[in-house]
Amino acid sequence: MNLDCNRIEQWMTVDPVVMESSASLCSVISMMRKRRIGAILLVEDQMLAGIFTERDLLSLVDEFRDEALLRQPVSRFMTKRPITVNADESFNAVYMKMKVYNIRHLPVLKGSEIVGIVSQRDLAEFYEKKIESELAKNRAQVEQLRNFFDLTKCCEGRRIVDELERLEELSLTDFLTGLYNTRYFSARLAEELDRARRQQTHLSLIFCDIDYFKKVNDGYGHPFGDYVLREIGQLLVAKVENVKIIARLRKSDVVARYGGEEFVVILPETGKKNALEVAERMRQAIATNNFQAQGRRVSVTMSFGVAEFPGDSDDCDSLIKHADLAMYEAKKSGRNRVVGFAPKSGSYSDKRSLRMVASG
Ligand code: GH3
Ligand code: MG
Ligand code: MG
Repeated sequence: MNLDCNRIEQWMTVDPVVMESSASLCSVISMMRKRRIGAILLVEDQMLAGIFTERDLLSLVDEFRDEALLRQPVSRFMTKRPITVNADESFNAVYMKMKVYNIRHLPVLKGSEIVGIVSQRDLAEFYEKKIESELAKNRAQVEQLRNFFDLTKCCEGRRIVDELERLEELSLTDFLTGLYNTRYFSARLAEELDRARRQQTHLSLIFCDIDYFKKVNDGYGHPFGDYVLREIGQLLVAKVENVKIIARLRKSDVVARYGGEEFVVILPETGKKNALEVAERMRQAIATNNFQAQGRRVSVTMSFGVAEFPGDSDDCDSLIKHADLAMYEAKKSGRNRVVGFAPKSGSYSDKRSLRMVASG
């Protein structure tokens, strides 16, 4: 993917799903569901005539009791003559169009031919990748600057470089817990996985989620919930620090806040058996900790899922997905437990039909 190429053509989804505008509403909805897409382009005489999106679908919710509605042609419900973009337009132009018209999907045309569709998700992916690549460039430049100021023994220069590094650190940190954020986690996981592949070693991922956290917030208030999140972050870090991790890693580097009340832990050079033990120690540390609220002690538990490379997964996405599935299984089987991912012999099924190893 060429990040310097700003033309929408490079980033759009090619071969978008196109249907005749005479198709029934029902068939359009089932296509959206089957292909898991947010918009369908509709044609008449092979020319773009409209677009039907999730938003149009939501506006019909109240009328769904009427079954006859579903048999009607989608042309009745689509947005006619939708706003479009040309394939050679820039990303910024497309972004502005989405913003000004408050739309999420734009058909892409070359002349009158439909060549693609671009969604807000494509935009987000483009900008995320761009930021990543800018950050990598910045990092290399800061490193060069540091070497230069070290060589010339320039104190003021070193101070500026320290400040630049601190700013970069902030952009990779979750402000509430002080742990690393998802951006850092994704980059780091990719790096560690590459290393594990090259060196033919194991790498494990722990995915964990606080049990019934909504009740904690509802019962003791949001600020208390925030305090629990910070404490849990520290407990997880402390347990990783107890583990003998290769010296090259700064120990707390591997714990990140993944989302609201979800955390992830990367364990390089660690197989699943050891990772399950680390997760179990984390589980116990949290379950036995007393969180203090208005003079009262509150207990909180967490569910853990563990997956490893190369046994369970071959790339970052599937490693995260499998650790997440194992965590989901821990929730299903009672919460406050650790579950290791173990696909059934043969192919992995997407329907969470897994054999799991549970403890706790
Ligand atoms: P489960 O055991 O199934 O995970 O139940 P749960 O209640 O933990 O899960 P649910 O996804 O229903 O609720 C998650 C809650 O986490 C809801 C949301 O308000 C809370 N949350 C997410 N981010 C924050 C945050 O930054 N601070 C606080 N205090 N709460 C948060
Ligand atoms: Mg959650
Ligand atoms: Mg939860």
